[in-house]
Amino acid sequence: MLRGLGKGIQLLPGSPATLFVPWDDGYYVIDPGSSESRTKDIASVGKIKGILLTHFHSDHVLAAKGLTSEEGIYAPIIEAGGVESIGLRRAISFGGYAPEGLIYHVKAVSVKVDHVFRPPHKIGPLEAIPLPGHNYGQVGYLTEDGLLYAADSLFGDKLLKSAGIPYYQNYREALETLRYLREHARDYRKIVPSHGPVVGGRRAEELLDFNIEVVEALPDKVMSTLISGGRTVEQITYRILGEEGAKITPSSIILSSVTVRSVLAHLYEEGKVSVEADERGLVWKLNM
Ligand SMILES: [Zn+2]
Repeated sequence: MLRGLGKGIQLLPGSPATLFVPWDDGYYVIDPGSSESRTKDIASVGKIKGILLTHFHSDHVLAAKGLTSEEGIYAPIIEAGGVESIGLRRAISFGGYAPEGLIYHVKAVSVKVDHVFRPPHKIGPLEAIPLPGHNYGQVGYLTEDGLLYAADSLFGDKLLKSAGIPYYQNYREALETLRYLREHARDYRKIVPSHGPVVGGRRAEELLDFNIEVVEALPDKVMSTLISGGRTVEQITYRILGEEGAKITPSSIILSSVTVRSVLAHLYEEGKVSVEADERGLVWKLNM
């Protein structure tokens, strides 16, 4: 079940994948993941020194709830509030209090954070580095021998194709993070995305290039939906998801709208779109 990645580092596959990094007589566990049964699998690996979270999304934190560790749970400062508060976690995607079961496919649980830190920050043999964009405070964890757990800063091909519009709180920051990783790709022995294959060398560069291509294409995709007239964020999102052949559900509209809104915000700042209020709500238009 566990896959060795060298130097005693082990990976428990899944979506997200969980990384075990040895330290003293135990392991640091990164992003325990999303199913309750996973808690048992993780506990059986060995003594847990500490649990390290990359960002507050429910699928990454759920299994942390039932685990006992020597040092407790670590989270970056901007994400820690969302780890502890389910309401805040949902409100960031929904825009306010959101009903249970509407947005996420996994159960949302509140998890108490024992150590809040500002990246970059050293924890045992690991360095937490800021990888913002998907979430504002997201971090990755870098081992001493150059293996990077990159969280949701890059996705595997399969997820990129099926999602239609990947989730970014700020697509522009996500793009800067991807370009930073692409520039340093050769410095990493391996890169581990939370949702996707472990990559290294040429394959890491190719996967980063594909992620960059997808994110760079977002502004044109959004603007092309406005050629025939103004639309709301949800209408734009519905149209792009349809064109990409992605699943259209209330949840996919809510999550993808976050990305679309961030694209529109940047286009607005660049003077490429404007916004008006009418009976549909906020209607975005191309500036001719
Ligand atoms: Zn995420």
